[in-house]
This record gives sequence, C-alpha cells and structure tokens, in this order.
Amino acid sequence: MHNIVLFGPPGAGKGTQSEKLIEKYGLTHLSTGDLFRKHLGEGTELGTLAKKYMNEGRLVPDEVVIGMVEEKIEETKDSKGFIFDGFPRTTAQAEALDVMLAKHDMSISGMIALDVEEDILKARIKERGKTSGRVDDQDDEKINTRIKVYLDETLPVASYYEKQGKFQKINGVGEIDSIFQEIAAVIDSY
Ligand code: AMP
Repeated sequence: MHNIVLFGPPGAGKGTQSEKLIEKYGLTHLSTGDLFRKHLGEGTELGTLAKKYMNEGRLVPDEVVIGMVEEKIEETKDSKGFIFDGFPRTTAQAEALDVMLAKHDMSISGMIALDVEEDILKARIKERGKTSGRVDDQDDEKINTRIKVYLDETLPVASYYEKQGKFQKINGVGEIDSIFQEIAAVIDSY
C-alpha cells in the first residue's frame, strides 16, 4: 500500500499527475481543493465557510481542513492507498495526517514535490483560469497571494518530510508523460 503526498505550488501539475497516478496504481485521490469546491457547489455549511478563504487565495483554517480529511479517510480507509493532493499545506496538517493514518495502521510512504519556477506557474494558472471557472485562477492579485501563501506557510511541510527521509523532488516542467514516468519511478522504489 502506498500513501503519497503530491506536493508543489499552485499550478505545478498536481491534479494532472494525480489523475494518471490513480489510473496506474488504483489509489484514492484525496484533493482538499476538489473537496472544498464540491462543498461550495453543493452549498453546504463547510462550503460557505471555505468560500471566503478560497476566493482570496488564503488557507482555510487547519481544524476545518483536518476534519474534512479525517472524514474522507474514514469513508475510504479500505482503499489501496491515497494520493494526497493539496494537503497537507501546513506543518500542523502534516502532524495531524500522521496521527490519522496511524489510527488505521497506515503511514506516508513519501512526498513527491513538483518543482516549477514562479513565472511558469503564473502563466499556467492564468491559462487554466480561462476554462476552470475558478475565481482564484483569474486575477494577478489572487494568484500572487496563493504563491506567497505557498512560500510562507506550505513550503515548511517539505522539511517535515525531508527530516523523515521521505522527500523527493522532481522537475515539474516538460512533457506530462515524462514527468509522470519520473514520479512512477519514485513510487516503484518505495
Ligand atoms: P487547490 O485546488 O489545492 O489549489 O485549493 C484551492 C483553495 O482551497 C486554496 O487556495 C485554499 O483556499 C483551499 N485549500 C485547499 N486545500 C487546503 C489545505 N490543505 N489547507 C487550507 N486550505 C486549503
């Protein structure tokens, strides 16, 4: 069983690569961004709470995110493993994830980080914004906030896994398929 954290700034290609990983390894995709967007679309209380943070490109409070992930893990704990996408985004979330997994005798196999430089990220997000319908993909200020939040609050999560010897960085610029092959090689080494 593999439990993988797919890591990287907004626009790094985590969603695209997750789709291919699910197909190859039969893992359960757990994207907190997708879960929040689902709640938003359904107009749930959680969606309403998350909306103001998401639309500004800020992080939803840890306890809200952690509660939502815990529920999803409970629902799908018999799966072959998880790809965590967009989670954990703070060190507190990473610590909570370890505790949640340990309850089910599971642990993180490794973090795979997609490395993409900032100007490419911005261009990719704006391109995605033409079709994604996401408010947070569409203006420079929100995109800049998301990248700043990533650098300030999320990047320390990489050190959390690095200290555990579970961190691997991959170049996230190039052909989708060749990036995927590199990710798969890391997973096959676990
Ligand atoms: P994403 O689709 O991963 O870019 O997430 C979209 C937005 O959802 C983020 O900008 C945050 O507002 C919120 N979000 C998603 N995942 C998390 C998380 N792990 N912690 C806090 N906020 C999150």
